[in-house]
Amino acid sequence: MARVDFKLESAKSRAVGQQARPHMRATDFSMLPAYEDIRVQQRVAERLHIEDTYFRLHEGRNGAHTQIAGRDLVNFSSYDYLGLNGHPEVIAAAKAAIDRYGISASGSRHVSGERPVHRALERALADHYAVDDSVVFVSGYATNLGVIGHLMGAKDLVIYDAAIHNSVVMGGVLSGAQRRSFAHNDLDNLEQALASARGTYERLLIVVEGLYSMDGDFPDLPRLIDIKKRNAAWLMIDEAHSIGVLGARGYGIFEHFSADPKEVDIWMGTLSKTLAGCGGYIAGSRELIDYLRLTAGAFVYSVAMPPVIAATSLTALEVMHREPERVAQLRRNGVMFRDLVRRRGLDTGAGAGTAICPIIIGDSIPAALLSQKLLERGINVQPVLYPAVAPNEARLRFFLTAMHTDKDIEAGVAAVAEEIGSLDQTMRALNIPGYNR
Ligand code: PMP
Repeated sequence: MARVDFKLESAKSRAVGQQARPHMRATDFSMLPAYEDIRVQQRVAERLHIEDTYFRLHEGRNGAHTQIAGRDLVNFSSYDYLGLNGHPEVIAAAKAAIDRYGISASGSRHVSGERPVHRALERALADHYAVDDSVVFVSGYATNLGVIGHLMGAKDLVIYDAAIHNSVVMGGVLSGAQRRSFAHNDLDNLEQALASARGTYERLLIVVEGLYSMDGDFPDLPRLIDIKKRNAAWLMIDEAHSIGVLGARGYGIFEHFSADPKEVDIWMGTLSKTLAGCGGYIAGSRELIDYLRLTAGAFVYSVAMPPVIAATSLTALEVMHREPERVAQLRRNGVMFRDLVRRRGLDTGAGAGTAICPIIIGDSIPAALLSQKLLERGINVQPVLYPAVAPNEARLRFFLTAMHTDKDIEAGVAAVAEEIGSLDQTMRALNIPGYNR
């Protein structure tokens, strides 16, 4: 698709801005470079009458459908993969927990104590991975930040997939370890990087995602296990988008590959997606979990998870285990969506027919515009724009759930194909300089 360059405009306007304001005030927040980039993007969008696609106001719960401005829309921007956010049993468990414990846990578990639901949730997560134990944190982001930041140090190397979530990168920064990334899903490249690092570092941590949320693809777990063993490295897998999605029963990437979950040193996941709550978990050996529980600042010095959230995610996990048909339905929906999109001749990138399917558009402006056009047609889907992805890889990112009907999926695919078909016309009508394809 055509290119309209956000990047050039942004750099140019910054240079002009700085000349005009030679005495930049150190205390002026608006002079922060990223802030200027945001303003440039907003001005471009305003000029083109593209509404801000972020921070849309939803009036109901997040699921296969959503309500925006009083309208019911098919929603492809929810991580409620198995439809458990709002499941009657999950809601009843949450209400009962509120009645019993109130809302807040008040302080850290060291100081304010724990509630039975904290222990039950951690036991259930450990059993899920057939490992010794697990520990939950109040935020998924803080889990990666706090655990990687705490576990690794100045003499170590953290090496991660180039598409890894920002929380992993920032965990590496916090740790003070050396950091390297390898090309997305390119395990040859990982091996090369490890070969050149051998002997230089005290500890090695390899971090990947079980299912990548930008592309909807996943790594080769058996090979990763082999690599980590040969290199005496720890392997950490972020299962945020994989639990509930991969494997016949939604147990995650280890089930998909029939791998022994004990072969992975650090299982990380979030409670905010399939498990309908909020927070993150680490599951692994007794020593790892004891170490984190007793020494990781993000756990020791942070409030305990609200008992209502622990009860919510525990019940969601139980429903997921009991009803594997939800996982089967999600898989069917993911394959159906991807196949219909491909049949329309559209580019689904590396999308593997899972719950996440990108449609690669190319440039940021048409991707944002498409999101707006689809909203008008009753479809909510978010674009991913530069700089979150490379300038020529802007995309619409569809998240499927088990609760989407065939009609929802067919309507979504038809609408996006039609809008992409008339994109040239729309772009020309907007008279964007430099747009020609
Ligand atoms: N890891 C991954 C792969 C994620 O996608 C996210 C958030 N979407 C997080 C970690 C952070 O989790 P949370 O939003 O639950 O804080």
